[in-house]
Amino acid sequence: MSEHFIERMTWQEVSERQAAGVDAVLIPIGTTEQHGPHMPLDTDCLIARSLSERAAALAEGQGVSLLVAPTLNVTLSWYHMQFPGSMRLQTPTFLQVFREVCDSLAHHGFEHLVAVNGHGGNIAALTVAVNHYFEQTGRRVFLVQWWDLAADALAEIEGPMIHAEEAETSLALALGQRVLMEKATRDAWDRGRAVKDAGLPWTSYGQYGMRHAGPKVVVPMDMLRDITPSGVVGDASRASVETGERIVEVLIPRIVQVCREMTGKEES
Ligand SMILES: [Zn+2]
Repeated sequence: MSEHFIERMTWQEVSERQAAGVDAVLIPIGTTEQHGPHMPLDTDCLIARSLSERAAALAEGQGVSLLVAPTLNVTLSWYHMQFPGSMRLQTPTFLQVFREVCDSLAHHGFEHLVAVNGHGGNIAALTVAVNHYFEQTGRRVFLVQWWDLAADALAEIEGPMIHAEEAETSLALALGQRVLMEKATRDAWDRGRAVKDAGLPWTSYGQYGMRHAGPKVVVPMDMLRDITPSGVVGDASRASVETGERIVEVLIPRIVQVCREMTGKEES
């Protein structure tokens, strides 16, 4: 198995890999923010990095050569700042960082870039970022997000998918994160009610989590400690490694497929 992480290679090794042909570079994007009382602050980073690593390993066996860029580990977590240790970039800073990382990779001739986002709070900004990047440079970056790409595998999970709940905790378990299941809790299960109880503005059409169906209105994130004392939004206590493994099984081949299709390579 060859090395996939660019930052773990010497420049000569990068050069050799390029000479042999690199099909795409994955850019893991996490954040450093609270994940309830049961998971460390690097959970989104670990998920994005680990999914990227596994995809690169599977791809290698299929004749697709993927490298993994350094993980973006401080991003958009302004609404977690009431919890100790959480860190943030302001949105314009993050957009600039993303663009310059893509520019750096493009500078070295990496043509196909795939952002692997592990943090729900980055969805809106990254959607803008990849479109703006194409507008400005003519280069397409695809955006992979596990909750979207494995949406079918997540269908059986009841309740909200927002933050540090069943789905995310299960995935973290399957990917080897340090998870203190005895501290896994349920909080703000009904976000609308939690927001109203906190005396904050809400609408019954408010978008609720990452798979809101039906009529909806986008509302900004709430400062999370106002609606969830633990930091969990949903139910982490229902998480299991089996659920996480089911998500991983669906997800990894699809990430490889996205990369293969992006490069126009036929399946071997
Ligand atoms: Zn997370």
